[in-house]
Amino acid sequence: MSPAPAPRRAVRAAAAVLAAAALLTGCAQSVDPIERLGKKAAQSVRSHTPAARQPYRRWGLPAPLAPAPRPASRPAPPRTAGPALAPVVDHVPTRDRVVFLTYDDGAEKDPRFVDMVRELRLPVSLFLTDTVVGPGYAHFARLRSVGAGVQNHTLDHPALPGLPYAGQRAEICGQQDKLTSRFGIRPRFFRPPYDRYDTTTLRAAADCGVAAVVLWRATVTSGGLSYTHGDHRLRPGDIVQIGPDDIRERTTRVLRRLQKEGLTVARIEDYL
Ligand SMILES: [Zn+2]
Repeated sequence: MSPAPAPRRAVRAAAAVLAAAALLTGCAQSVDPIERLGKKAAQSVRSHTPAARQPYRRWGLPAPLAPAPRPASRPAPPRTAGPALAPVVDHVPTRDRVVFLTYDDGAEKDPRFVDMVRELRLPVSLFLTDTVVGPGYAHFARLRSVGAGVQNHTLDHPALPGLPYAGQRAEICGQQDKLTSRFGIRPRFFRPPYDRYDTTTLRAAADCGVAAVVLWRATVTSGGLSYTHGDHRLRPGDIVQIGPDDIRERTTRVLRRLQKEGLTVARIEDYL
């Protein structure tokens, strides 16, 4: 005879333990131990089923994500380093308990991430590079349709500092044009590849109609959260970059951290 399947064996073993415990304590067991285990399992299924339907549980959060507040007023425009130069920000001055989640390049095209953004109503920002997205723009159109913002991260992802104005302008304006024709809306923000830029970058960005060069103060990698400068904790107004790979898992990790700190996610377009 073949042995009983492992789960049955486990139930029998647990039942034997229960029966032995009942004998030891002298407690009268009117219900068969196996039946009791079955009832327990049924209760556990009943108590977990409604919760499993809650989107926040499905995405690994202990509680619903707080909705972003309506910004009381738009903060003053960020300062520029000079005339005709785009301002650079990695943090938005605000007292609202919000941070901004940003994703770069467009290499990872995980359809489940679209579900996550839709179900949690995450107002994320995607900085896209044309040659990295390649033929994958439909994925980002889906993300846009569920509330994500699409921004500029150059055509080809070069390191910009030191490149002549014409080359930098072609990289930035070229992707502005491409994203405008793909999505019907001109991006307001630009993030330089590798977070590196020079004055020429800021001039070219301004000439291409970019409202702000958006860097980040905190990043989420496989090792956890790290910060470019300042406090080693998330503060209201921080711009957070979610590194490539496992973006769902990394997003969950940062959302849990936000919830612990009483923060939530807002649309960067509402604050810049
Ligand atoms: Zn990049």
